Amino acid sequence: MKEKVSLVRCEDYSEENVEDALRESLSLISGIKKFVQRGDKVLLKVNLLMPRKPEAGITTHPAVMKALARMIKERGAEVMIGDSSMWMTNKALKLCGVEEVARELGVKAVNLDTFRPRKVKIKGGKVLKEVYIPSLALDVDVLVSVPKLKAHELTSLTGAVKNLLGLIPGRLKTEVHKTAPDPESFSEALLDIYSVVKPSFAVMDGVISVEGSAGVGGTRKVGVILASDNLLALDTVAGAIIGYKPEDLPVNRMAKKRGLKGVSLKEIEVLGEEISEVAEPRFRKPSRLIRLLGSFPALNPFFTNDYKPVLNRKKCIKCEICIEHCPVGAIKADDEGYPEFDYDKCIQCFCCREGCQAGAIELQESLLAKMISRVMAG
Ligand code: SF4
Ligand code: SF4
Repeated sequence: MKEKVSLVRCEDYSEENVEDALRESLSLISGIKKFVQRGDKVLLKVNLLMPRKPEAGITTHPAVMKALARMIKERGAEVMIGDSSMWMTNKALKLCGVEEVARELGVKAVNLDTFRPRKVKIKGGKVLKEVYIPSLALDVDVLVSVPKLKAHELTSLTGAVKNLLGLIPGRLKTEVHKTAPDPESFSEALLDIYSVVKPSFAVMDGVISVEGSAGVGGTRKVGVILASDNLLALDTVAGAIIGYKPEDLPVNRMAKKRGLKGVSLKEIEVLGEEISEVAEPRFRKPSRLIRLLGSFPALNPFFTNDYKPVLNRKKCIKCEICIEHCPVGAIKADDEGYPEFDYDKCIQCFCCREGCQAGAIELQESLLAKMISRVMAG
């Protein structure tokens, strides 16, 4: 039997449009009744990367959280909405609109970092042998992944599977980057997490997306909402909409080796719109070189530091957040308080760039890297 993914158009974040799209999306995959029963405790694991307003496009939009929470509440279930951000989760809950939604609907906004983490062994883990997961995420009856569709340097897109990284408490997330610095091993780490934390279903906010390198390339309307109980299949369809073949996605390549389903369009039934009807070919993908290097790890040593984070001093506000969160301690403050990069230590995870609220960290491609990118692009 094929994996089912619903694909529904949603032109904007007006409450009415989002609710209509979400109801249709869920009804196409057998309806909310299949997943949520009266009295269930349900956690919506949204993507609150960091404290930013919804208009920035990097976090799950509150209109999507609200419509989904309302539908689940109508089933007589208890709803919680939350995440563990890269930093300042409480501020993110407020700025990203979770607290307001929670107040309006009478549901709970939860900071996952405030729940006791529990160690979970990963039997057969390829990269991670154990992870710490907040007890709440393990104890709820229904866990729902509610990602934001975005470009991502390591995984090409941030989707339903990548959203699970946010379950790792606080700074432990950066340890995953440290252990798995390249696209292939990072994808294996995500699949290791997915092997022990299985959301019942996922709903993706693909209305307004963020494109380009490190997810800071600007917003792009894609205009869709997707849902599925197979997170890999959902990401495969989302990838196809923004121009990726299934095998372009490193998570899919690794998942295929594990024999997991949902990593090829042949094994997926798309319900609702056709992919071709909503495809967004103008979507700007992250750096091609980094993705290509991920496909050929043996080449990486030859290109180390050919693609690196650099500081734009004019934009930097010296908040030191990048210094605190670099997983390998490759950034320190210089005499004037500006971050300084140690490229011998840098593992090019671009967490610093992704998390800089001032947009002060840019990517610098060396001449050699530019030439190779062009040659590889044919
Ligand atoms: S680069 Fe960004 S995160 Fe780092 S200190 Fe400057 S403003 Fe803060
Ligand atoms: S300097 Fe930036 S890109 Fe390099 S390892 Fe640290 S966070 Fe990652």
